[in-house]
Amino acid sequence: RVVTRFAPSPTGYLHIGGARTALFNWLYARGKGGKMLLRIEDTDRERYTPEAVQAIIDGLAWLGLDADEAPISQFERAPRHREVAEELVRRGRAYYCYATSEELEEMRERARAEKRPPRYDGRWRDRDPSEAPEGVKPVIRLKAPLDGETHVQDMVQGEIRFPNKDLDDLVLLRSDGTPTYMLAVVVDDHDMGVTHIIRGDDHLTNAARQTLIYDAMSWPVPQMAHIPLIHGPDGAKLSKRHGALGVEAYRGMGYLPVALRNYLARLGWSHGDDEIMSTEDMVSWFDIVDVNKGAARFDFAKLEALNGHWIRASSDTDLVETLMVERDFLPNGVILKGRDDAFVRAQLLAAMPGLKDRAKTLVELADGAAFLFAERPLSLDEKAAALLTDEGRALLVELAAVLASASDWSAPTLEGLVRDFAEKNGLKLGKAAQPLRAALTGRTTSPGVFDVLAVLGREEALGRLHDQIK
Ligand code: GLU
Repeated sequence: RVVTRFAPSPTGYLHIGGARTALFNWLYARGKGGKMLLRIEDTDRERYTPEAVQAIIDGLAWLGLDADEAPISQFERAPRHREVAEELVRRGRAYYCYATSEELEEMRERARAEKRPPRYDGRWRDRDPSEAPEGVKPVIRLKAPLDGETHVQDMVQGEIRFPNKDLDDLVLLRSDGTPTYMLAVVVDDHDMGVTHIIRGDDHLTNAARQTLIYDAMSWPVPQMAHIPLIHGPDGAKLSKRHGALGVEAYRGMGYLPVALRNYLARLGWSHGDDEIMSTEDMVSWFDIVDVNKGAARFDFAKLEALNGHWIRASSDTDLVETLMVERDFLPNGVILKGRDDAFVRAQLLAAMPGLKDRAKTLVELADGAAFLFAERPLSLDEKAAALLTDEGRALLVELAAVLASASDWSAPTLEGLVRDFAEKNGLKLGKAAQPLRAALTGRTTSPGVFDVLAVLGREEALGRLHDQIK
């Protein structure tokens, strides 16, 4: 059974690149009937905060990528990591190293002088601990093979070979008894029963080192899939300006989780020419071997277009409920100013068909809905104000009288009345609609003006017209 895992370090938020890694792990596990686990790599205690862990869990939950079991803390597993390090010593696959910091510094200096990467020279590999100098606390190092090659069979990158002479005897357990990242990852993945490691290709060299640890323990090496990183539109490392943000920032920009999932899946993976994919589609189509080797480029325009699609494809009630949850998008203080939720819901729902076609984000959607909750008298934007000249206002006086005569306050009836009026006066319909829209919404763009009238209701609509002609 497939077991994947997402193993973020708690940096304070769920980074967009991490979100894509989580998505690939989640899609693969779901598609294969397996499970995805979450491991928090929280061994850096100086940076650790519970809030940073929560931010990751919240980000995953918002994106709809929950793990199948409770999160595992890497830090809490330190005793187990230590046990494995000691087991490796007993097996003769690791050893205590008493090199002092001066000795290590010397090795580094020599490497600098010879212009090569620093490398531990193995001086304690075959020495007996009885020779240990007094007062030096040892580290445990892996007894890595000296020659030959280590192969990583990667589902995305293919077979990669690393000459063992480049992989020195890495530290497994520090002198204070804490495990290194390299050891902790291997022990955790093994104990968690992980069958597939799907992560960024910046971990490829680690994969070779980790393979050596698996071999030393005679553990099977999980399948590996190192996915290409996300780059900016210019091909350079993803910058903040180009999208290197936490998922909560995307939430704040008004993207829907379904759209973000769709977009992230397409970063590095494709299924024929399909751009729009439901999550169900992706679960059944996704396969890790179809992930590209090359870096993916982030493109906000494409994300917006997809988001617009998913807004249009969402039901009106779902969009209303989303806006009720994401209240901050709604115009300032709507809910606080004594409008109750039922009123806000009903107004949003009535206006939604006219609103959702024009919005690419929830921010735009809420902005389009702002007129519903505007306080009288409305403040008009510049273009709207320009329409309400003396002539425009004279027209409004007549239109207000015509509308006030409506037998029922429905969009078709109101439209009929305004059409008749326009015809009688030799006006194009738009000529009459423009000042109406300006007075009703304060803007020159809005849903259809008769829908606006209907949604606002008789009293509010006529009130707004009269505010402009007093
Ligand atoms: N904690 C590592 C990171 O955030 C991931 C380690 C792994 O997936 O093996 O980059």
